[in-house]
Amino acid sequence: MTIDWKKRAQDYQADYLKDLKELISINSVRDDEHKTDEFPLGEGPTKAMLKFLSFGARDGFKTQNIDNIVGYIEYGSGDQTMAMQAHADVMPAGDGWETNPFEMVEKNGRVYGRGTSDDKGPALAAYYGLKMLKDSGIEPKMKIRLIIGTDEESDWTGMKHYFEVEPEPTFGFSPDAEFPLINGEKGNATYVTSFGHTNGSDFTLKTFDSGLRLNMVPGSADALVEVGDNENFVDGFTQFLDQNPIAGDVKSTGQGIALHITGKAAHAMEPKNGVNAGTYLAKFLNEYPFKGAAKEFISYLAEDLHDDSRAKKIGAAHVDDIMGELTMNVGIMKFDMKQGGSVNTNFRYPKGTDDQKILAHLQQAADKLHGTVKEINNMETHYVDPSDPIVDTLMHVYQEQTGDLDSKPEVVGGGTYARLMKRGVAFGALFPNAQDTMHQANEFQPVADLIKAMAIYGQSIYELTTK
Ligand SMILES: [Zn+2]
Repeated sequence: MTIDWKKRAQDYQADYLKDLKELISINSVRDDEHKTDEFPLGEGPTKAMLKFLSFGARDGFKTQNIDNIVGYIEYGSGDQTMAMQAHADVMPAGDGWETNPFEMVEKNGRVYGRGTSDDKGPALAAYYGLKMLKDSGIEPKMKIRLIIGTDEESDWTGMKHYFEVEPEPTFGFSPDAEFPLINGEKGNATYVTSFGHTNGSDFTLKTFDSGLRLNMVPGSADALVEVGDNENFVDGFTQFLDQNPIAGDVKSTGQGIALHITGKAAHAMEPKNGVNAGTYLAKFLNEYPFKGAAKEFISYLAEDLHDDSRAKKIGAAHVDDIMGELTMNVGIMKFDMKQGGSVNTNFRYPKGTDDQKILAHLQQAADKLHGTVKEINNMETHYVDPSDPIVDTLMHVYQEQTGDLDSKPEVVGGGTYARLMKRGVAFGALFPNAQDTMHQANEFQPVADLIKAMAIYGQSIYELTTK
């Protein structure tokens, strides 16, 4: 049977946009302040997931809500399962919106609103892909499940729960990234290195504070210090600012000298895109004779970690032909005179190394400074061979629908739900060269792209499950 998927998708455009509007109108930001036993992530994420399931029920699919944190829409039957993993939660709206983020607005061929691009728009396009199949009376040779998570933007609470209580699907994809396809995701490990709280008397580090999130390069850093010769110290700082790709200021306060550095924030996937304000501040302080644990904290940052996103100095560097380089981000740095020091590092690593090897290198560097390293969490590398039919078939459909024969499957430092399945890949729905507004103010997606994605998903589900 030859099906004109593009034409079909266009026929569904009005219905699709009506459903999407309903989804966008639900504020599904994780809300820990209002969590209850019934709604462990707050009500919003659950409500948006249940809205998806209600579309499924309306259109005659079997649906299942699992403990209010994950749900699925099912079609077909058989021993094998093809899964699509999407999510109904969204990032906080943040400032700078020109329209209400929780009201879908159609303007200039685009739909604006939180979730239009990540991930309600693509998730619903995948749903309509499935609906096209069913409405055409096509019977798949296996079970198909569209699984809707409710906590993708934080801890994957719902999707992880699904994998605890349901069998792992045979293969599948997550419509929660970009086209053409992501078949490799680096491992992702996070550590904290702790130092004591002892200090010097001539040079005293009172506080040091940089970074808010593990997955960001810190764009600013602050320290409060007491030093013997204020004038020289302040001059030294001004010179340091001039000689480095940073800005900042210094002032005397009743508590001591307050130093501030501004660098450039960036995503931890590629620390080279940012300028780490925290390790620069440590590098400056390292030129002065601080003592005790304060000095050890400073020296760890300045000598072992600063300006070394490939972790060569601590010896953890690794490159894999296919998955690329290991990267290190120093995300959060703190010191105070009661708690002592702590340094959070996040590594994205290719195959050929692992979290324990990285831990050993970090510990070796920390040993000489009386620091202790602890692993906070780890996700292994994920790689699906390009010859696997899941990659081959999806690439073929993408190429047929778009005519784009140049784009290749990618390996990324980020993580998608796809890594929870041995044969899982991320597939859409941001097209190459399209503007990426995920997690930003005025998030949008062109309507034509969403409909094109719907056609691709329809044909993909068809090719994967009926042949
Ligand atoms: Zn997403």
